[in-house]
Amino acid sequence: PLSLPLTERSRSELESFRDTQQAAYDELVASGLKLDLTRGKPSAEQLDLADGLLALPTTTTTPDGVDSRNYGGLAGVTALRAMFAELLGLEVEQLSAQGTSSLTLMKDVLSYLWLKGGVDSERPWGQEEKVRFVCPVPGYDRHFTLLEWFGIEMVPVPMTDDGPDADAVAALVANDASIKGMWLVPTYANPTGQVTTQEVAERLASMPTAAPDFKIFWDNAYALHHLTPEETKSADIVSLAAVSGHPHRPVLFASTSKITYAGAGVAFVGGSRETVTWFHDNLGLGSIGPDKVNHLRHLEFFGTPQGVRDHMDKHRALLAPKFAEVERILTEQLGGLGIATWTHPRGGYFVSLDVLPGTASRVIELAKGAGVALTPAGSAFPYRDDPDNTNIRLAPSFPVLSEVTGAMEAVTTCVLLAAAEQLLA
Ligand code: PMP
Repeated sequence: PLSLPLTERSRSELESFRDTQQAAYDELVASGLKLDLTRGKPSAEQLDLADGLLALPTTTTTPDGVDSRNYGGLAGVTALRAMFAELLGLEVEQLSAQGTSSLTLMKDVLSYLWLKGGVDSERPWGQEEKVRFVCPVPGYDRHFTLLEWFGIEMVPVPMTDDGPDADAVAALVANDASIKGMWLVPTYANPTGQVTTQEVAERLASMPTAAPDFKIFWDNAYALHHLTPEETKSADIVSLAAVSGHPHRPVLFASTSKITYAGAGVAFVGGSRETVTWFHDNLGLGSIGPDKVNHLRHLEFFGTPQGVRDHMDKHRALLAPKFAEVERILTEQLGGLGIATWTHPRGGYFVSLDVLPGTASRVIELAKGAGVALTPAGSAFPYRDDPDNTNIRLAPSFPVLSEVTGAMEAVTTCVLLAAAEQLLA
């Protein structure tokens, strides 16, 4: 039967299965595909949704009477901060609106910690003998390459259905003062899609840490990026940290990269008031203020926090069918064969596919040979080291729906062929 797990088939059954997949693969190669599932970029259609921005702002004066064209206002336009503070569950003083990239803000915050230390640091991180970071895996590749650039050592911990494994994190940070922080994508994690529960967030906010200045880099890149009608709320990390006596532990990040334009949106950084003031004190050496015209344009475009939510519904209408197509093809082609599992995200930009251990790099190589670009093997792990060579991140947002279909059919053929090869080896 078609659905008998591959591992339970006889050698001759496997050989004929391999031959079928090889023939399908050869056909794919001959068909000359050129498709790309590598990066979580919005599609052109999604970007079109924000083209109203191009005619804005209609005024250059902010609601509080500031001329947006001039210097000043290091924290960003107050009304835009208030809009996103409401969406992110913060007070306006706990949020700063800045340039176009939250990743840049993460690099800034790390740089300030490195050179000057945080509000609760004994000395700059750069003067420590060693600095280590807890990294939930699989995770976001740019988080890991950024730490590598700083020479910060990465310690992986597993993700669970509820967020990072809080017991594992708590055990690591309790006695090792060199562990200064952790990454966390709390809502619709990249690439695995989990939402960190309030309970896990509470654990992370309250756990004793040997380092007095331990930081949770709370990268809420997908806070509002639902794929279902359910508006899952992010855990309330800043309040949780405050009530457990570690108010300066979280540093929040978010942006409109996947709300408006991915190269011309607005990025935000937040935390305790002291953390935000600390950020501005360090930023102020190199900036007299952010692009307030862009802030004002975004403010006018959305109008209200509900305007942002309504806009996200339009993204969902474009994205949900692509994710449904990925799910359909994975289920139809790989279901019941015992060689792959995958996530069923309710938001965010990715599907995380785990293929037969030992075959992820082969799948990616085969896909490349058939003209389908996948993220390099190991990308979602520190030092690009996927110990089981099993994980593949799929990003279906950018291609049009028919290309998602073609690319996924090609990917599943490669998964099947690689599995058969490995089981016969
Ligand atoms: N964080 C995560 C988890 C992401 O997936 C991305 C985009 N791929 C970013 C940050 C980058 O955000 P920005 O465009 O604001 O720099």
